[in-house]
Amino acid sequence: MPEGPEVETIRASIAPVLLGRTIEGAWVSTKKLRAPLRRAALLPLVGRVVVDTGRRGKALWIDVEGGAGILVRLGMTGRLLVEPVATARAPHTHVRLGLSGEDELRFVDPRRFGSVVPYGDAAARAALLVGVGPDVLALDAAARTAIVVALCATARSLKDALLDQRLLAGVGNIYASEALFRARLSPFLRGQDLDEDGARRLLAEAEATLADAVRNRGTSFSDYVDGRGARGDHLTHLLVFGRAGEPCRACGGPVRRQAQGQRSTFWCPRCQARRSARAGRLR
Ligand SMILES: [Zn+2]
Repeated sequence: MPEGPEVETIRASIAPVLLGRTIEGAWVSTKKLRAPLRRAALLPLVGRVVVDTGRRGKALWIDVEGGAGILVRLGMTGRLLVEPVATARAPHTHVRLGLSGEDELRFVDPRRFGSVVPYGDAAARAALLVGVGPDVLALDAAARTAIVVALCATARSLKDALLDQRLLAGVGNIYASEALFRARLSPFLRGQDLDEDGARRLLAEAEATLADAVRNRGTSFSDYVDGRGARGDHLTHLLVFGRAGEPCRACGGPVRRQAQGQRSTFWCPRCQARRSARAGRLR
């Protein structure tokens, strides 16, 4: 499932080829995506030039002149690609926007948990992002303070809190485990059992974890590729995620995997003991 770094990598990879292009046509498959989409809803974009791209958390948008655009969520298996019209379309291509210069923007999604939602102006776009918190890769001091306060107040586990896109947007299952390991905090520790220093350390590690993943152009386990079809390089940099039974990169003990909220959490019980909530920052 693409998280903030993967979506940012996709955005950055398609922005240079989209900007300045005119949308020349729109096509939608008959298969239902997470949000229903009719071709007619995309037609207002036709004839307009792409002027901007943006992202918050796992949501990505493309603006055309006049303020309209599309907001894309990739869900579990979504891909957003810019390819030459002549390139064979991948199976499960559900939305296509024709671009000047014989290219197409293609939304491919085998499991169809993703969505493409058109909007008419910036206010309509903002309405689609209600409930999406501040982006982890673009926090200011005020947002950091608010998140630290919320982390220290919650009765939820730190892992669950990190996954809450209303609190901070962009951290998914992979990077939550990674950030908690880097902060040497137990994923099962409740936020209210954490002191402010611990919360600040966790947030700083979440920010650093996502920034590192963007530098490595995301993590490719199976589906994820950027907007030009290239896989990400972050997989080999993962410290705990996907490494159950392998030696912890810090202490050499076995990394463990445990179901938490219907998803797998990976952690080192030795480095991330609950009592370590007040331990210093380690690498
Ligand atoms: Zn360890």
